[in-house]
Amino acid sequence: MSKPVTIKDVQVITTQPSTQRLVIVKVITSEPGLYGLGCATFTQRFHAVVTAIEKHLKPFVLGRDVSRIEEMYRMATVHSYWRNGPVLNNAISGIDQALWDIKGKMANMPVYDLLGGKCREAAVVYVHANGDDPREVEENVRKYVEEGYQYVRIQMGGYGGKSDMKPRPEGSPPGHYYDPRAYMRNMLKMIEHVRREVGPEVELLHDIHERLQPIDAVAFAKDVEPYKLFFLEDALAPEDIQWFHHIRQQCATPMAMGELFNNPREWQPLISGRLIDFIRMHVSQMGGITPARDVALHARMYGVRTAWHGPGDTSPVGHAANLHLDLWAPNFGVQEWCRFNNLVYEIFPGLPEVRGGYMYPNDKPGLGIDIDEKLAAKYPCQDEVEQWTQTRWPDGSPARP
Ligand code: MG
Repeated sequence: MSKPVTIKDVQVITTQPSTQRLVIVKVITSEPGLYGLGCATFTQRFHAVVTAIEKHLKPFVLGRDVSRIEEMYRMATVHSYWRNGPVLNNAISGIDQALWDIKGKMANMPVYDLLGGKCREAAVVYVHANGDDPREVEENVRKYVEEGYQYVRIQMGGYGGKSDMKPRPEGSPPGHYYDPRAYMRNMLKMIEHVRREVGPEVELLHDIHERLQPIDAVAFAKDVEPYKLFFLEDALAPEDIQWFHHIRQQCATPMAMGELFNNPREWQPLISGRLIDFIRMHVSQMGGITPARDVALHARMYGVRTAWHGPGDTSPVGHAANLHLDLWAPNFGVQEWCRFNNLVYEIFPGLPEVRGGYMYPNDKPGLGIDIDEKLAAKYPCQDEVEQWTQTRWPDGSPARP
């Protein structure tokens, strides 16, 4: 038997070419020139992930056989004894995805072939349309449709919307205030307008972003039912998932859920209870391709489809991992796409391309993506206290962002 290829070094690359701070793991092997990349991006707490990798995971994986992805993932999730947190899960994802990338390069196969092969040539994507009023949202939807997109998420005034605020208590602190009841009324008008104007063929999506009280989320899901959304996302917070029973009993609005989940088992009751229709997993937050594959297969048994989280705080490496899962998963639904700019394409050669509303792979082995480290270093991560997540109810008390 030949000697196994082992992990020789683990490097962490951080970069911020646009608004989001990105964390990429590079696993270097004992085979000269052979390395893999993985996404470990937790943009709001990136220093913690970097430290978790450099100080804890790197010493844990050095010298291990690169072929044993499953064992590495299982052991890494319990090695710290205390588990299921976003910092460690993202750190583990960086290693997990890099090992899949390496395995693909060793086998001279794209990762979708390692997973079982393609079910489709490209992944259909959805993009985000926003606007300050219903007409502006409609105009932005039309622009995307002209570019070939068939699926568009419609928001108005950002998460929670913008509305005339109720009076605040004297001395209220600054922050992102929003009024959930006004949000419900305004979004209903906007969705009704856009559906009426763009017709039934365009697939429309909306993300509540856990901004409503549970009973209001039930009412909202019922109210939007006539407008045939492709899905309604994060109607409830992870803490309130038992309310999904009530939504299901009262309407047939398709439900998407779960970008904030930390553990594969959190999906189990929602999937096996047929309470949701799309899994919105943030793959790095779950620990990488290995647990994403597990949950996708579980969901397939219950007719639940994938819709991996794909905003700008999923790194380009993470988007490549999403695409390989999309191409393989028999129960693929739709892929979120954040439309990276040209600079990001320059920094990450091989970043999947989107044409006519579909995301296409290249024919390279592994994840098919690389990083120009010198160029990435020109855009270092900025330290700042995140503002948009300082969200408040009308009386000034803290709310979910
Ligand atoms: Mg979301």
